[in-house]
Amino acid sequence: MEGVCRTVNKACEYCGNPFWVDEFDKNEVRRLYCSDFCRSEAWREKAKERIRVGKRTYNVGCEICGKIFLTNRSTNKTCSPECHHQRELRLKREQSRKRREDIKNGIIKRPEKQKKVETLTEVQRKAQAAGMTYGKYMEQQFLKQLQEERERNGRTKDVHKESDR
Ligand SMILES: [Zn+2]
Ligand SMILES: [Zn+2]
Repeated sequence: MEGVCRTVNKACEYCGNPFWVDEFDKNEVRRLYCSDFCRSEAWREKAKERIRVGKRTYNVGCEICGKIFLTNRSTNKTCSPECHHQRELRLKREQSRKRREDIKNGIIKRPEKQKKVETLTEVQRKAQAAGMTYGKYMEQQFLKQLQEERERNGRTKDVHKESDR
């Protein structure tokens, strides 16, 4: 039915309180806890449990807030889901910054498709071979391109194509 917000009744995995989520919201439906508080408490409990049953524990300084916390995985970098989220954001930012730098330094190529561009001398050579001046040749090429474009587009509206640099 339209306009009716359908909900699903769930029980918080941490405190057991019932809560409702929109059954059409995929993220919501996957929610296990009634609140952020329960989510992070549950996370901490699970971490503690892992440490209890784990063979080794590590004292790790959180990369985000600097707090020392216990974990049984030396690869854990953060003390809580909040810090974990912050770290993900930071990594993403760093990745895109590095990517921009790599592109600038020519280490990686810009992902956009690259059009084969004829060099000036190549064009001049072709123009000469066709017995035309450079300007005339370019005009011919441009008209040819325009014609091809029109044929491709069929009867659709006249497309004004700017010649690519
Ligand atoms: Zn709860
Ligand atoms: Zn932290």
